[in-house]
Amino acid sequence: MANFYCEYCGSKASTITDLTASSCHRHPSGAGKGKHKLYEGSEKSKYSCKYCGTSASTISNLVASSCHRHPNGSNKGKHPVAL
Ligand SMILES: [Zn+2]
Ligand SMILES: [Zn+2]
Repeated sequence: MANFYCEYCGSKASTITDLTASSCHRHPSGAGKGKHKLYEGSEKSKYSCKYCGTSASTISNLVASSCHRHPNGSNKGKHPVAL
């Protein structure tokens, strides 16, 4: 059974259709301003931040905290998950 995750917030759905049908509370344009975006990496036991390498056991835990190496400035954004 496959799970699909949102790259921005880590929400999980059993189909891509379900995932991308609902709005994302961590969308980069603002909470609820867009739909969940499919995370195209494979399911892992540990997810890492693209910029600083911080890792967490779930995407939602990773993207919940601020990134000190974010390109917009230190702690100006959340850790984005690497593929
Ligand atoms: Zn989302
Ligand atoms: Zn980071």
